[in-house]
Amino acid sequence: MNKNSSNTMALAPNTSNKRETVCIFGTGDFGRALGHKLIQSGYPVVFGSRSTQTSSLIPKDAEVLSHAEAAQKAAIIIVAIQRQHYNFLTPLAEILRGKVLVDISNNLKINQYPESNAEYLAQLVPGAKVVKAFNTVSAWALQSGTLDASRQVFVCGDDMEAKQMVMGIVRALGLTPLDQGSLLAAQEIENYPLQLFPMWKFPILLSLGLIAFFFFYCLIRDVIYPYVYENKDYSFFIAISITNRICPILALILLALVYLPGVLAAIIQLYRGTKYRRFPDWLDKWMLCRKQLGLVALAFASLHVLYTLVNPIRSFVRWRISSQTVSQALNNKTEPLDTTNAWLSDSYLALGILGFFLFVLLGITSLPSVSNNVNWREFRFVQSKLGYLSLVLCTAHTLVYGGKWFLSPSSYRWYLPSAYMLSLIIPCTVLVIKFVLIFPCLDRPLTRIRQGWERNPQYSE
Ligand code: NAP
Repeated sequence: MNKNSSNTMALAPNTSNKRETVCIFGTGDFGRALGHKLIQSGYPVVFGSRSTQTSSLIPKDAEVLSHAEAAQKAAIIIVAIQRQHYNFLTPLAEILRGKVLVDISNNLKINQYPESNAEYLAQLVPGAKVVKAFNTVSAWALQSGTLDASRQVFVCGDDMEAKQMVMGIVRALGLTPLDQGSLLAAQEIENYPLQLFPMWKFPILLSLGLIAFFFFYCLIRDVIYPYVYENKDYSFFIAISITNRICPILALILLALVYLPGVLAAIIQLYRGTKYRRFPDWLDKWMLCRKQLGLVALAFASLHVLYTLVNPIRSFVRWRISSQTVSQALNNKTEPLDTTNAWLSDSYLALGILGFFLFVLLGITSLPSVSNNVNWREFRFVQSKLGYLSLVLCTAHTLVYGGKWFLSPSSYRWYLPSAYMLSLIIPCTVLVIKFVLIFPCLDRPLTRIRQGWERNPQYSE
């Protein structure tokens, strides 16, 4: 077959309904899964393989030919082969001239090679139009049809026409192509599947650090102290009491940490008198993971709710209530209802319920399916106004819980205040700064700065 004529024919716009043949190099897991999907979508598929023997795993409507023969049958060739074997393409360079070569490969480590696999492919076959695509889609998801979580296909390449052809195939498979620009973007796209929860690292590590700190803090105060001074064994507190103390503490601190970078950013902007200077790196990174911090906080708040619900069936709680009743019966004396305590206890519960309700609302609105359906103002209203209200309610819930013991010397053990007192430090700081920032003398210049006004224009870059 005439090579040039095959290229020209295949790259010409397709006016009939018939789809153009797609060639796949490699009959491995990904090649076969993509082949199945392409055939289902109406594309004739031809495989280029080292062995032309077909097997039961290969889609039965597909042809299996040598690499050179298969390449001549299509204008688009998807290279479903690991990068380290790419040198087999060098002798095929002439046949591949003018063809669209789709690089779908991934590496085992971030930035494993100096150049991206797609750029390496372009160097090996300089006459081909290399496009990077499909590397974030797994063979398993393609084959099983469970593509809901990974419908997006990142595409990049230097040749616009070639990129459009590949994006056409992506669409025909029911996926969404996202144009990432030139082939220079390939390295970043190749790093996507290797990232391990990048935005979750800080919230999770911070939570683990806080859990460790508060666990030992509560262990010292609630288990070791009574054992040393009263010879009482409260080690069973570890299972529920201490855990149910740590969960709300973490929920409150992490929720406050969602709003702390916002107030710090406001202070920095007020101080600099401009919004056109970059925040420090650590603050930028902190701002980017606020959603994840909030979701981890919500998880701890939900655990607190569950742990609290089981309180009445705990053996220790039932023993305490029955011994109080028995002691009243033995003394033939009924303790009158303390209405102040009843008010405090009901207010504390009501504040907790309302705070948690708003917390859940914040979590729901942060889901992409919900946030995509509200406009920017609505999103800001929920995340900022209702978020602060939730922080106020949760802080008040903690304050009312322990307010009466706040200054009581008996609540200090080995000079250590209750853990809930520590948990109030960051939320109260955030709320006080936010309250101060609302004053018109600060709010007005801050609003102007955020609208683009500059106090000292020489600061702007
Ligand atoms: P695989 O199962 O190991 O298949 C690779 C295929 O490459 C083999 O079946 C073989 O096909 C061919 N091959 C092996 N050694 C060769 C050599 N020396 N010269 C020429 N061809 C050779 O790998 P895979 O999972 O299909 O992955 C293929 C590519 O897709 C990789 O770059 C991978 O990073 C990428 N990818 C895979 C997935 C996934 O879920 N598997 C997801 C995204 C991207 P023949 O025997 O037919 O020649």
